Amino acid sequence: MIGQRLSEELKRSVRHLAAHARRKAPWLTNQRLTAFAVTLVAVSLALGGLNPTKDSAAEVVADASTEAFPRVVPEQLVEHVPALPEQPLEDTAEPVDSGSWNAVSVRSGQTLGAIFNEQGYSAATLHQLVTLDENTQKLARIRPGDLFEFQNDEQGAFEKMRYALNDTQYLVVSKEGDALHSSLVEREITTEVAEADGVITSSMYAAAKEAGISDTVIMDLANIFGWDLDFVLDVREGDQFFIIYEKLFREGEFLKDGRILAATFVSQGQRYRAIGHESEAGFDYYDPDGRTMRREFLRAPLNFSYISSGFNPKRMHPVLKRVRPHNGIDYYAPRGTPVYAAGDGKVIRSAYSNSNGHHVFIQHSDGIVTKYLHFSNRAVKEGQKVRQGQTIGYVGSTGLASGPHLHYEFVVNGVHRNPRTVPLPEVIPLDGNTLDEFQQQSAPMLTRLRRLESTSFYASAK
Ligand SMILES: [Zn+2]
Repeated sequence: MIGQRLSEELKRSVRHLAAHARRKAPWLTNQRLTAFAVTLVAVSLALGGLNPTKDSAAEVVADASTEAFPRVVPEQLVEHVPALPEQPLEDTAEPVDSGSWNAVSVRSGQTLGAIFNEQGYSAATLHQLVTLDENTQKLARIRPGDLFEFQNDEQGAFEKMRYALNDTQYLVVSKEGDALHSSLVEREITTEVAEADGVITSSMYAAAKEAGISDTVIMDLANIFGWDLDFVLDVREGDQFFIIYEKLFREGEFLKDGRILAATFVSQGQRYRAIGHESEAGFDYYDPDGRTMRREFLRAPLNFSYISSGFNPKRMHPVLKRVRPHNGIDYYAPRGTPVYAAGDGKVIRSAYSNSNGHHVFIQHSDGIVTKYLHFSNRAVKEGQKVRQGQTIGYVGSTGLASGPHLHYEFVVNGVHRNPRTVPLPEVIPLDGNTLDEFQQQSAPMLTRLRRLESTSFYASAK
């Protein structure tokens, strides 16, 4: 393995980065990992897996020197896919004129005026166009690479123009007598349901490429299961995935991959399944029993680099030589890393003390309190209501802390629980009618998913 040939230092650097890029916005309904994170997961996996709980305090210090690694995310890879229409547009789409178009791609620095001039259209026509209505005002912001298509009348004068406003809409302007008329025309998008499966060999990224799925799909996969599985710490060689997803076609040509409709992830022998379901609350993923994949609490309230000290109620203190419980988890992260409220709640303490440094406690429903210690700065006040994912402070080393880290506690009815393993309440569980509806609607997809799992080449790789 590559891992053997790399120095410990580089391993640490990669681990640091992988975790840092882990979740860009973990609280979003439709979470998306950055492509960068996936790439780094790939690198981490190539290194032969991570073993972060064994890190010593010395490594914490060494790790701080890896800041120089670039964290820039390639733009084209993380660009968010626009929300999909709930219904395929094929029924509502007006036929787009099939006459022959003269296509012009906007060059750098080129204005619409220059393009019209090049086409031999009059300045009067241009003026008429840009002052026509709110649709044509959108032409004020054309960019290099945008596509204009024109049709001329028999005299070579302007007759019709179309411009792709976005993936799903054309702006069409046509001449009617002496006047211009504009309209927005839906572009015909059709959806096909496709299947993919793979086994993780060198990396998740490579497995995705092998399975012929895009970065977006593999990121969505990581996000769907990210509440149960840690794609930085938990994913291993031999893990398998099975995906049923949408492929979108525009005017007959492949446009991009769409939503995941159902997926299975088998991690170290444990099988996780998720089915997409549209309810009144929107599109979300559920397990086959109708439990949401999302949880009321983030598993970790920050993008941590690694765990420097685990939860251990019977920890023997290395210096004091007596049992001194560690009632939380220490997440190492660079100073200034934002820390999020793990769930919705109310700030019941935001203060400074000699041992805890700057610290914040949040009261949630069901007798749950979360505690966050050693902030460099606090971002909330006592009594303030907070939402899941809201920044409440920044990683620091105030109080009794040897280096920048977050000490995080999860307390249920006064009892400290391990934040890494405590079962987390699900969000808006389905029940009664909504559960019946889910089970009816998801049954065919679940059958299809099971069939994919059993007929896959990888099914025998268990
Ligand atoms: Zn601690």
